[in-house]
Amino acid sequence: MPSSGSAAIAGGGGRFAAFKLDARDEQAITELIRTERCDAVLNALDPRFVMPVFRAALSAGVTYLDMAMSLSRPHASDPYRQPGVKLGDEQFALAGEWERRGLLALCGIGVEPGLSDVFARYADCLLAQIFQSTACNAIHSIEQRAAKWIVSAMERTNEDAIVPLTHEQLATLLGVGRSYASRVLQTFKAEATLETRRGAIVVKNRAALQARACLCNEQVKTHFEEVLRGVYPTEEPSRPS
Ligand SMILES: [Zn+2]
Repeated sequence: MPSSGSAAIAGGGGRFAAFKLDARDEQAITELIRTERCDAVLNALDPRFVMPVFRAALSAGVTYLDMAMSLSRPHASDPYRQPGVKLGDEQFALAGEWERRGLLALCGIGVEPGLSDVFARYADCLLAQIFQSTACNAIHSIEQRAAKWIVSAMERTNEDAIVPLTHEQLATLLGVGRSYASRVLQTFKAEATLETRRGAIVVKNRAALQARACLCNEQVKTHFEEVLRGVYPTEEPSRPS
């Protein structure tokens, strides 16, 4: 038994077993399905191994599911104008066999549906952030934007009041000259909202800083929470029963 397989099944309470075999060896896979008396095969291998496992499941007469599909190949002589072997073609060619034997094969059920959903949500959030930033740069004052950036930096560092941000970095974030960024920081310092030290900004009055910030950050956060809800693990607030 391979050690990685053993590690993976540890804690399974004896319900799982691991075997080492050559995934190209259709005969060996068929035999293993039979000796282990499997009801179904879930093929999570690299797509190059789809066909041997697919055929083995058919030979052994069990339900089959896979995450990928049999691979495509370009047309041998005219690859830029004619389709060659398309994704899944080799599997669909055996559809009749599966039907005749009254067996079910679910092909290409994928890691993709779940994962592409997460990617689409991420893209949605990224775009929302970009659009909001564009609008923010166009209509909100440098003071508002500076306050927004500092508050958001705090939020990303567990509300640490010491924000490791130089005048230079803040200026870059705001797209203004360093002296302009320093002048904004001077204003906040004069109001006792923050202090600056070498390489860092120390927030003294978060509420005041928040009040000076535009609401762009909040808009983006609300969007994230709505679109990515359920993606990140959240702590359920404990409710009194
Ligand atoms: Zn803004």
